[in-house]
Amino acid sequence: MPLKPPDRADLRKCRKCQADIFFAESAKQHRPVPMDAIPVKGYRLTWKPNRRDTANGGQYVCDLIDVFTTHFVTCPEAASFRKTK
Ligand SMILES: [Zn+2]
Repeated sequence: MPLKPPDRADLRKCRKCQADIFFAESAKQHRPVPMDAIPVKGYRLTWKPNRRDTANGGQYVCDLIDVFTTHFVTCPEAASFRKTK
């Protein structure tokens, strides 16, 4: 399955490096966050306790999913974003 932007993403170009990005609102601060348009693969971890002895041990179960990275991290001009504040 090819990696592609979310269907409803309103794609724009980064003003610094021309990469495809879109904005998402951060769930906690309700502020716009620039995201790379193309997701990367990452693992979501879920803790699975042992069946009989839930107090002692268990293991992580990993599940491969698409994850999005903020363009603040991947932009070659990332340092210049911070200076503008
Ligand atoms: Zn950029």
